[in-house]
Amino acid sequence: MSTGSDPHTVEVAGVPVDTRHWIDGARVESGETFAVESPIDGAHLAEVSSAGADEVDAAVDAARRAFPAWAELGPEGRGEYLDRLARAIREHNDELAAVETTDNGSLLIGNRKNVMARGALNISHFADLARNLPTEVIEGSVRNEVVYQPSGVAALITPWNAPFMLSTWKVGPALAAGSTVVLKPPEWAPLTCSLLADLSAEAGLPPGVLNVVQGTGSRAGQPLVDHPDLARISFTGSTDTARVIGRSAARSLTPVSFELGGKSPFIVCDDADLDSAARTIAHQFINAGQVCLAGTRILVHRSVADDLLGRVTAAVDHLPVGDPRDLATRIGPLITRRQFDRVSGFVDRAREQGARPLIGGGPHPAGELYYSPTILTDVDQSWEIVQREVFGPVLVWQTWESDTEAVELANDTHYGLAAMIYTSDPDRADRLARRVVAGTVWVNCFFVRDLDAPFGGARDSGIGREGGRWSFDFYADVKNIATRRDDQERST
Ligand code: NDP
Repeated sequence: MSTGSDPHTVEVAGVPVDTRHWIDGARVESGETFAVESPIDGAHLAEVSSAGADEVDAAVDAARRAFPAWAELGPEGRGEYLDRLARAIREHNDELAAVETTDNGSLLIGNRKNVMARGALNISHFADLARNLPTEVIEGSVRNEVVYQPSGVAALITPWNAPFMLSTWKVGPALAAGSTVVLKPPEWAPLTCSLLADLSAEAGLPPGVLNVVQGTGSRAGQPLVDHPDLARISFTGSTDTARVIGRSAARSLTPVSFELGGKSPFIVCDDADLDSAARTIAHQFINAGQVCLAGTRILVHRSVADDLLGRVTAAVDHLPVGDPRDLATRIGPLITRRQFDRVSGFVDRAREQGARPLIGGGPHPAGELYYSPTILTDVDQSWEIVQREVFGPVLVWQTWESDTEAVELANDTHYGLAAMIYTSDPDRADRLARRVVAGTVWVNCFFVRDLDAPFGGARDSGIGREGGRWSFDFYADVKNIATRRDDQERST
């Protein structure tokens, strides 16, 4: 990683972090900067270069120039670079974890143990997949050979709740598929993506293959998605921003992949293992609920609701709230004052409408940006607290009496990212899983999935699927080479 005595390098958790962009294999400064603060204690961490259209143009141009040689390398050649990048991430696991925690307030224990390792896997796994993509041949009136052709420059835009993991989730498959990349990290937590640029240099990635432009959505993100030379736009963030990006992509007809927000149902049946369900419900508060996949609507069979609530309350009581650098902590701070105000605004308005807190319901004494894990009941299906994503440690609690009612409640929002179903009856699980609208349904589990599986959301939770071969369907141009068979006179 860069070691710095220069003015563009700051120490964050003891790790030097360059605050400039990474364009064409070099650090590039902007006249303007934006401030980055730690949610843990409000400490000013860095003034980071703030890109505008000029830096975005330079980055897209670098990626465009680097594309032919990168594409030409093929999966094997690209895989060697990507394996080195994955190794570099693993070697710097603890530094990346410490910077991420300081930057966005996510749990150090999770970042150290799982999140950064998953970041490395996002790179190496897709390198392997690209190497082993089977050539599909459809023998029909002609011989149809399906090949994955590198498509060009991919713009990747990511949010602050897991910036390193979500960036590598896009960078890995995009680079493996032969795209070159311009990554725009989130303004509220940009620092680990700067370290990713350092690591790409350490891994020897050719200049221009991976570019990182730091900046805000309006100054850097908008000119990026408006750029005419993009082959793909992959965006993870809110549904509202996706609508704005979608308008830009429509003008240039650039294919998009959108991984967006959710308001996922967590269905607990009367035959469920209630201890297991309670532990998983408590888990929805991890990272202060700033998790897109969180099951934020608890839908429990009326006959077991009181029993389950007792178990959930006990499980939540065992989740220490506090400094995310403390390895015992399970619920850290919200990322900014703006996010805190958004979360408390949702709860306050719901309480004014008549919602009743079963757990929590207000700020937590651990510090300025801490909010108590909260469960609200006596809510109406039409209220915003049921319909809209809060993105904080806030769940709603509703009961039902028939499976049909459970499914109706589950499907009655505009979202469709995930759903959880707890039941001991496999047939019932299957019936419910097929009827709920969701990109991912977890039965008696949560959050676990394989990188070969498709991931994405239905309805307002997204467009398209990434993961496994679905990532290549998106980043690459899928081409059919239709060849006349020897026994044929002419092709059809
Ligand atoms: P935003 O939509 O506000 O921002 C996401 C990214 O888009 C940021 O980098 C942002 O920049 C950028 N951006 C903002 N405006 C534009 C624009 N006009 N053009 C291009 N880029 C733009 O989301 P949040 O950062 O608040 O993240 C939280 C959201 O992300 C939640 O809805 C959550 O559910 C969702 N999410 C979805 C996941 C999934 O896999 N489905 C995973 C994780 C989160 P800036 O930082 O400057 O605002």
